[in-house]
Amino acid sequence: MEIFQKIGETAKGLSDKAREVTRRSGEFIEATRLKFELSRLEKELENNFLSLGELVYRRFKGEANLDEDIEHLCESTRKIETDMLTIQEQIDRLQPRPLVCPQCKIELPAGGKFCSYCGRQVAAE
Ligand SMILES: [Zn+2]
Repeated sequence: MEIFQKIGETAKGLSDKAREVTRRSGEFIEATRLKFELSRLEKELENNFLSLGELVYRRFKGEANLDEDIEHLCESTRKIETDMLTIQEQIDRLQPRPLVCPQCKIELPAGGKFCSYCGRQVAAE
């Protein structure tokens, strides 16, 4: 009977592993989707800045009644910025960014407490 118990345990181990793989690939897909969304918003932000520049210049040249358009565009630009921050936070949660030395901006190995380049302590002991 022992053999059946063993098989049962192995099967459980495998399904745990499968579940972990599924979870990881789900997170990867989600992070990819978020990055795509982030780059879409980046382009939107760029377009807003372009339009804003144009509007401000037209106002400078004397065109009237542009203030409301400029105001609206600023509001939507701020919303895009906020959305981008939220998305970046979600990405960071799914794929934590490696620690970077604040002094020389070099990526640090996981768990390292000192920068291997400048020796600066980067994590509390
Ligand atoms: Zn350093």
